[in-house]
Formats: sequence, C-alpha cells, structure tokens
Amino acid sequence: MKNIIIVGAGGSGAILGRQIAEKLDTPVRIIERRNHVAGNMYDEWDERGFLVQKYGPHHFYTNNYHTYHFFEQYAEFFMHYYKSKNYIDGQYLSMPMNFYTVQELMGREKAAPLLVKLRKEFAERERVPIYELVEHADKDISEYGNLIFDKAYKTYISKMWDIPIEKIDKYVLERRSMSMNYDERVADYDFQGLPKEGFTKLFENMLSHKNISIHLNTNALDHISFCDNQVYYDGQCVDCLIYTGNIDELFSYKFGKLPYRSLDIQFEYHDEESVLPTEGVSYPQAKGYVRKIEFRKMMYDTSRIKVRGSILSVEYPMEYNKDAKKGNIPYYPVVTEDSQAIYNQYVEEAKKYGNIFLCGRLAEFRYIDMHTCVEHALEYFENIKSYLI
Ligand SMILES: Cc1cc2nc3c(=O)[nH]c(=O)nc-3n(C[C@H](O)[C@H](O)[C@H](O)COP(=O)(O)OP(=O)(O)OC[C@H]3O[C@@H](n4cnc5c(N)ncnc54)[C@H](O)[C@@H]3O)c2cc1C
Repeated sequence: MKNIIIVGAGGSGAILGRQIAEKLDTPVRIIERRNHVAGNMYDEWDERGFLVQKYGPHHFYTNNYHTYHFFEQYAEFFMHYYKSKNYIDGQYLSMPMNFYTVQELMGREKAAPLLVKLRKEFAERERVPIYELVEHADKDISEYGNLIFDKAYKTYISKMWDIPIEKIDKYVLERRSMSMNYDERVADYDFQGLPKEGFTKLFENMLSHKNISIHLNTNALDHISFCDNQVYYDGQCVDCLIYTGNIDELFSYKFGKLPYRSLDIQFEYHDEESVLPTEGVSYPQAKGYVRKIEFRKMMYDTSRIKVRGSILSVEYPMEYNKDAKKGNIPYYPVVTEDSQAIYNQYVEEAKKYGNIFLCGRLAEFRYIDMHTCVEHALEYFENIKSYLI
C-alpha cells in the first residue's frame, strides 16, 4: 500500500484526491488546515438562509465543455452570468466597459461618432484590451481609452496592489478589456454557471469516496519532516506528497518569503432586499475597499432566505501577513522578477526529493481561475499516475 498524502482540500487537492482514489483505486489522506473542504471556493448557508462565499465570490466559467461537465458530475449547476458595475463619480457605469459605458460617460450624442469609429477599427473583435485603446493612433479612441484608464483602472489597481498611482503602467491592463458591443457579462466564456447548492457541497460530493480520508483542522507542516532526501509524515516514509499550500512555508522560508496580497472581507447586512444594481460593484474611487458583492443575486433559490434584507461582502485589499489578525490569507501571488527567482529556488529544492508534487495556486505561485485549476489538476494526475504505477 502506497503512503499518499495530499496537503490541502481546496480545488487542486480535492480533484487530485478523487482521481487517485477512483482511477487508481488507492487510498489517499487529505490534510486540511481549515475546518472545511473547498479551499477558497468554500461557501456556507448562514442562519438567515443566504449562501455566502466567505473567501470572496466565485463564478465558474470556461470555454471547454468537458471542464464544465467535470464539475457537473458532482453538483447540479444553473446558468449564471456574473454582472458587475463600476461606481464612478456618483454613477453606476456598465462593466466591463462596453458600448453602454461610452454613452453613459460621454452622453449619447457625443458617443455616436466614437461608436462608429470603434466598430470600424475593431471590426470582428468582441473584446479589446484597454491599453490598445490608450495607445490607438486615432485621437478620439485614445482619449476615450485614457479617460477610462484614469477613472476606472488607475485608482483600482493602485489600491488593489498598493502601487503608487503614478507607477501604474497601462500594460497591467492586459486582463482588462472593453466589449466592442453591448455585452455586459464580466467573463465572455461559453459555459458559465454556479452549483445550485454551492461549491462546498460540490467538493463534499467529490471527496465522498471509500479511498479518501480527510483530516480537517490539521496543519500538515506539524507532521511533515525531511531527512536524507526523504519525506516523512508522522515519522512514516511518504511515497508521494502532493502539496497545494504555500511552497515557502513547506521549506521553512529558507530562500525567503514569497509576497502575496490579501483581502479583509467584511460582511454587512442591509434591511433592503436589493442594495446593489448588480451582484458585484467595483469602487475605484472609494477609500479602502475595492468591491462589494450582494449574495442574494448569486443564489439559485432565494425562497430559502428567511428574512427581509440582503447580505453584502466588502473587500479591503491589504498586504499578506501570516501572523496578522487581518490579511492572513494569501489570496493573490505578487509575481515579480525577484519573487519568481525565489520561487524557482523552492522548485529546485522540491525536485531533490523526486516525490513532491507541487500543484495549485499557492504551490505554483500563480493566479489560476477555477477552470484552469480543474484542467491543470486533471493533467497533473496523469504525471502522478505514471509515477505511482
Ligand atoms: C478573492 C478570489 C476570488 C476568486 N474568484 C474566482 C472566480 O470568480 N472564478 C474563478 O474561476 N476563480 C476565482 N478565483 C480563483 C480560485 O479561488 C482558485 O482557482 C482556486 O481556489 C484554486 O484552488 P487551489 O486548491 O489551488 O487553492 P486553495 O483554494 O487556496 O486551496 C489550498 C488549500 O490548502 C490548504 N493548506 C495550505 N497549507 C496547508 C497546510 N500546511 N496544511 C493543511 N492544509 C493547508 C489551505 O487551507 C487551502 O484550503 C478567485 C480567487 C480569489 C482569491
């Protein structure tokens, strides 16, 4: 019997655990520091009947039907498109920026010739990165690009990443784009949805298998030791360690700490049933916070809500500090040349053991969406399979 340990019951750990348990018919132990499975995708039903996402809102989207279907094996989904607005200068503007936003910002009459230009210049393109507008040779287009860069993105990014506003380069906008039509969906993927009963239920179903044992409230690092290029768990030699936590922590920060941004997510209850115009609103100009989410608008079955009112989360970005009261969750890796160089040293260290597999957003020190998490874990399983059999 192989001794297989998975650290972390988030998306990456759970998917790999299920694949090994089912496809290889082999027992696996999954160790999770928190008191629940599902990692940052965790959601819970609160006492008022709201389905609340404690670590920030998650929307599932992909262009790959098989990826969508993979999740559908464990939970029933309903079709849901994430809609959001930007609150700027006292008004709610469409987001992502699209043809409505041009009209909202410039007035319909002035917007008309610009819309003609945008249609002509970007014919057959549905989404265009904001920096392409900023840099465009046509003066009207670049002026508009600069207007939205200044109003919506500069301040938002400055707060989110704690970068002085004058240092924000238009190239950080690579992931931010404008719809060249009236499409108001935040993500323009073919398959989008949410599990009716929530992500936690999905992962509980996924992890319900005779070969899987889950150990919650357990910091794996209290049990892992290294000796002569061998990994031990509770003193027993490990055949395969699948690690989805912070890689610097695994090796006691010997090459230095990796930087992350964190969030302090606060929850506020309102008596009204509808507080925001869309389920998400970004606040580039607000002091401290960047986004609010109204969970009622993400729920499949609002008849389960027992009260009149609505619950919102408010996200305050901050530096990650493992030992602090707030900001102790590593949400977003800060990937720079320096941090990448530190990360590479940890990867080399892990390679020395030959049986440590690093998978997921923390162990690989990169931001991944859920669909990438699924696809990557499934691919990764193939490597682990060839190692184990
Ligand atoms: C605020 C926010 C919003 C997001 N929204 C979306 C979205 O809308 N759509 C989308 O596609 N993606 C979204 N994502 C990305 C999504 O959260 C990730 O793709 C996914 O969570 C990755 O899963 P993972 O298993 O790699 O990491 P995680 O979910 O972080 O899981 C790692 C697990 O390992 C555990 N762990 C770590 N160290 C130890 C240890 N020493 N011992 C025991 N356990 C340990 C942790 O407690 C955690 O449960 C969002 C991410 C964030 C931060």
